[in-house]
Amino acid sequence: MDALAELVGSLPGGVVSTDAATLENYRFDWSRDTGAGTPVAVVRAEDAGQVQTAVRWAAAHGVPVVPRGAGSGLSGGSSAVDGGIVLSLERMRAIEVDGDCQVAVVEPGAFNAEVKTAAREHGLWYPPDPSSYEICSIGGNVATNAGGLCCVKYGVTTDYVLGLDVVLADGRLITLGGKRIKDVAGLSLLKLFVGSEGTLGIVTRAILRLVPLPLPPATLVASFPSVGAAAQAVVAVRRTMRPSMMELMDQASINAVEDHAPRGLDRSAGALLVVQSDAPGEARVAEITTVQAACEAAGATEVVVTDDPEEGEMFVSARRAAFPAVEARGSLLLEDVGAPVPLLPDLLAAVAEIGLRHDVEIPTVAHAGDGNTHPIIVYDAADPASEARARAAFDDILQAAIRLGGTITGEHGVGRTKKSALPDQLGEDVMELSRRIKDALDPAGILNPGAVL
Ligand SMILES: Cc1cc2nc3c(=O)[nH]c(=O)nc-3n(C[C@H](O)[C@H](O)[C@H](O)COP(=O)(O)OP(=O)(O)OC[C@H]3O[C@@H](n4cnc5c(N)ncnc54)[C@H](O)[C@@H]3O)c2cc1C
Repeated sequence: MDALAELVGSLPGGVVSTDAATLENYRFDWSRDTGAGTPVAVVRAEDAGQVQTAVRWAAAHGVPVVPRGAGSGLSGGSSAVDGGIVLSLERMRAIEVDGDCQVAVVEPGAFNAEVKTAAREHGLWYPPDPSSYEICSIGGNVATNAGGLCCVKYGVTTDYVLGLDVVLADGRLITLGGKRIKDVAGLSLLKLFVGSEGTLGIVTRAILRLVPLPLPPATLVASFPSVGAAAQAVVAVRRTMRPSMMELMDQASINAVEDHAPRGLDRSAGALLVVQSDAPGEARVAEITTVQAACEAAGATEVVVTDDPEEGEMFVSARRAAFPAVEARGSLLLEDVGAPVPLLPDLLAAVAEIGLRHDVEIPTVAHAGDGNTHPIIVYDAADPASEARARAAFDDILQAAIRLGGTITGEHGVGRTKKSALPDQLGEDVMELSRRIKDALDPAGILNPGAVL
């Protein structure tokens, strides 16, 4: 308790909270990880100096530090640790756009959507667009190397990170990169921190590359009799082109969205593909024609094309609504497995087989153009047998992805919920190298212990 009083005393009033209600509010991320502990304090830092103060205090007393953005994570990455502090960056939200350099200099608590809005005022765009873009922070995006819907053409968060300020485990603040488009001086430490899930340092500022605004997209929506047919269309399209979006919803997720927030989707469809092209002029016509032909060849029963951005956005919003809609059906275990695009049909078939074998419902959506799928396992938390079947299915899906040469996580991160399968994907040598890097940067192991490694 003396140590805690020292922390409270070293930071301005209102920064450190220790009341039970606040501690409870900061225990979980969106995954509601059942292993989450209870912190001794929540520190809502207002600047990098306060982050340093909190980390120095934690280092001196050997107290775990769980960095937290907006808590929208889906893998228990910001689950609180018993006896630790939650270091929230939510109050650090400044955004400054440098139009001449085409970059945004952003504090970690700013939401992805706020960066997009600020960039738009300068005729610029920040592409990475997790479905959660209105409720997730840039710090969380950097720490998970977040993806989203436009990655198939525009890449993921790391492709837009030019610079980072990071508070290390001993409280030092380092600056990596800057507003420079090209910079290969020294080891590529900048990229080491992207996707490190709060285990190597705490991001207190990011310099993000911006690009010119894209053209309003044309949208194609295709209905298929089965998920397999839709996946075959994806493989055919991706052999020759990259649309600006290529999303898949299966019948169960379509119906969950229609039950939860109806948009008039075809409930009888086995699967829907929502595809966009933002190419200019004739190239757009050619892309949409290519996609339409591939869908029809794969057995699409209906193909609708619209140039109206608002109508297109209605279909995209249906896809974005899938997680909250499925959540209304029960407790969830969320997967994020991926495979090389040609193996997307095999991955989706494996998920369906696992669902049948374990007798669990697994609505599935996918950033299909990336081969990145989100099987969402639904179970009844009040029924231990239902939960046991769900957990067995969860593990089997991770292993199926590994067997296909895929990944246990395409964009959400390993966090705590997928940690047990990481050695199976990486192998012992890579695990050992990863642990050595962790030990070099955080020898006392205070940063997000229990996550990832
Ligand atoms: C409905 C819904 C849809 C989603 N769709 C997508 C999607 O399409 N694509 C996608 O990639 N993700 C998606 N997500 C997952 C989630 O939004 C992302 O992982 C996001 O990047 C997390 O940001 P956050 O600010 O909420 O981070 P948090 O959940 O608070 O933290 C996530 C991880 O980052 C670490 N962290 C947070 N801030 C910092 C910091 N400043 N420095 C160091 N470490 C830090 C935490 O310790 C934790 O390990 C979705 C989530 C929801 C709820």
